[in-house]
Amino acid sequence: MVPPVPSAAAPTLQVPGATGADGDGGPTPPDRPFEAEVDPSSPNRNLAPISASLDSRDRLMVGDCLLSDLARDYGTPLYVLDEATLRATCRAYRQALEDSYPGPSLALYASKANSSLAITALVASEGLGLDAVSAGELLTALEGGMPPDRIVLHGNNKSLQELELAVCHGVTVVVDNWLDLELLSGIAPAHPGPVRLMLRFTPGIECHTHEYIRTGHLDSKFGFDPDQLESVLRHLAGCSWAWLDGLHAHIGSQIFELQPHRDLAGVMADALVLARSLGHRCSDLNVGGGLGIRYVSSDDPPSIQQWVADVATAVASACTERGLTLPRLLCEPGRSLVATAGVTLYSVGSRKTIPGLRTYVAIDGGMSDNPRPITYKSLYTAVLADRPTAPATEPITLAGKHCESGDVLLTGLALPATTTGDVVAVFATGAYNASMGSNYNRIPRPATVLVQNGVADVVQKREEPADLLRYDVLPDRLSALI
Ligand SMILES: *Cc1c(COP(=O)(O)O)cnc(C)c1O
Repeated sequence: MVPPVPSAAAPTLQVPGATGADGDGGPTPPDRPFEAEVDPSSPNRNLAPISASLDSRDRLMVGDCLLSDLARDYGTPLYVLDEATLRATCRAYRQALEDSYPGPSLALYASKANSSLAITALVASEGLGLDAVSAGELLTALEGGMPPDRIVLHGNNKSLQELELAVCHGVTVVVDNWLDLELLSGIAPAHPGPVRLMLRFTPGIECHTHEYIRTGHLDSKFGFDPDQLESVLRHLAGCSWAWLDGLHAHIGSQIFELQPHRDLAGVMADALVLARSLGHRCSDLNVGGGLGIRYVSSDDPPSIQQWVADVATAVASACTERGLTLPRLLCEPGRSLVATAGVTLYSVGSRKTIPGLRTYVAIDGGMSDNPRPITYKSLYTAVLADRPTAPATEPITLAGKHCESGDVLLTGLALPATTTGDVVAVFATGAYNASMGSNYNRIPRPATVLVQNGVADVVQKREEPADLLRYDVLPDRLSALI
């Protein structure tokens, strides 16, 4: 059964402790308190999950579960995933595609953002497809119940094993380079029927959060260079074992602008003209992912509805102008599909005050469960789970527990006075946290609980330190020494 998505979130959440983008320049005054505008129709525009609410004592709840209870019952660090947010996002993509694209469409979840059986099952139950980039993600998708004909396999260096797994399950392979084709032509004879392919090319549009460039060529490791497109399409026309289902391009991530995807539509429609002129069916056009989300109050991404409408309109008109039968429109949201559903809970531990400089408050996780700040200087927003609305009086730096000075999750954070044992909730951690995590310092990975309607289900168990020894081998000649 699919639980209903709440139509509006309960009491509006006041979230006082925003991050300041202060880099490393010492303490900054607390950011001005702000009100998280809850927009349940487009979760990527919220800081907190759409089910976030306050109990009668103003403590933070998600999915009707008190966060500090979850921390107590399941331990910290803990990834909390809000089912209502995840389902609302899936529905927003589906509905927007239906509303604004005149042809068929399908949203594929880019599972590298957060890959698990539970997320796969949820996304599959909402009628979406999935993109995988490795045997591990592919296996997770298949075991999680995603129909193989709604899965695509990406990757700029797929192994023979990964290609065989995809082909034998009837998963569409997104061909990235000539080696893919060489390996596939070896696999194909053992496979009944044609192998389903898409072709990834570099569209000459590249987008980072606040800039984008358009060139004929791009320095990217992914996909065929535009120069190569015609020769690979001609080559494929002679491969009787292959069906070219469509074309693919992906231009970047955490994108707030709409123009790059509008430009992409034209570039892709041109490529579609070429492909069809060479006899390819090419019924699918996959514009990739990239829509951004709100991590801090100053972020203002477009809504899912606006992004989809822009992409859909641009693709439809670019195709119509060129006299093309409308392709099925595919897109591949990753971050914007799962990030806002996630909250990470930590317990406050030690504290170090450097007079006149800053106060470090240390939590029991850090770069191993959220490598984004140390990798990309990413910003986050955090509150105390049991006092989210209390005045944020103390500027602090939220430090991780790893042996790296750079292991700092948030700088310029303002919180109410904290004591050891307080639970800190960091928002928008559903994407590229668990999936990019590590066991650095031999720290076990956190558990994930899925919450809805007051029920919490463990969907990923917490690792124990002993689990980390499972693949260590002590040769006899070394154990003989001890
Ligand atoms: C990473 C990636 C995505 C998803 O990107 P988001 O920014 O997370 O939406 C989609 N398609 C491809 C090919 C990707 O590499």
